[in-house]
Amino acid sequence: MQLAVFDDDRLAVVDGDVLIDVTDALGATGPDGPLRAFLDAGGGLAQLAALDLTGLPRRELATARLAPPVLPRAVIAAPVNYRDHQQEMHEQRSIADYGLFLKAAGSVIGPGEQIQLPYTDKRTDQEGELGVVIGRHASQVSPQDALDHVLGYLPVLDISLRSTEDRSTRKSFRTFTPLGPWITTADAVPDPGALELRCWVGGELRQHASTADLIVDVAHLISYASHVMDLQPGDVIATGTPAGVGPLGAGDDVVLEIEGLGRLEVRVSDDGAIPYADRPGLRGLGLAGVA
Ligand code: MN
Repeated sequence: MQLAVFDDDRLAVVDGDVLIDVTDALGATGPDGPLRAFLDAGGGLAQLAALDLTGLPRRELATARLAPPVLPRAVIAAPVNYRDHQQEMHEQRSIADYGLFLKAAGSVIGPGEQIQLPYTDKRTDQEGELGVVIGRHASQVSPQDALDHVLGYLPVLDISLRSTEDRSTRKSFRTFTPLGPWITTADAVPDPGALELRCWVGGELRQHASTADLIVDVAHLISYASHVMDLQPGDVIATGTPAGVGPLGAGDDVVLEIEGLGRLEVRVSDDGAIPYADRPGLRGLGLAGVA
């Protein structure tokens, strides 16, 4: 089953070219979006499987404007979790050394929206990643039990400024976490460790990998994260990016497709980009950075 959000606050099951509106059937209404309303009220895969879709309102997918399928409380992300990306970054360390980092929840955007480049003179890269959506509270779970806490999976772009700041700054700018186009529920993804991932920028295939090459796989990543922090329904884990990251330019289309999970498309804009030396809040303080 695939779950999408359209018209900002309507939850839908995707059925081919049609969206079946399940918002009212699930009572999925709340300030944090329809999916969070459903999950926070205790809903999960069992309720979705039991849903009778007969007679519910339908809408052509092509005419709908999709929103982020979930508004997470937390976006938790894995640095350096593929060997080939470790090599391209000339990185000696891996996730085992760096642990996890957090991206601001406010950096989430949906399909068809725009990534805004913050600076005119600093490189900003695409990172195509498999995303995991947590379905129920997970605290200190074992790798064996970890996948039982997953609602589903989706393509995630971890947009990343290449500069000296900590990851949580470089990756938390507004618009830096495109999610979508929808969530594919866990029952429809037999093995999250065997998915082909492809990412194009401006029509050029930059990333082509399999999630089989994750250094820390999905189950171990959830287990590890859940021993650091409690994972809440709707939280998203970005599992890390394979080789092929590269700079984005204004007007670029970024397309991330993961086998069975759909195709996330966004565009890049430099509207409002400023010189790095002019960073508001720091400008004029006489602070000399090394960069
Ligand atoms: Mn990343």
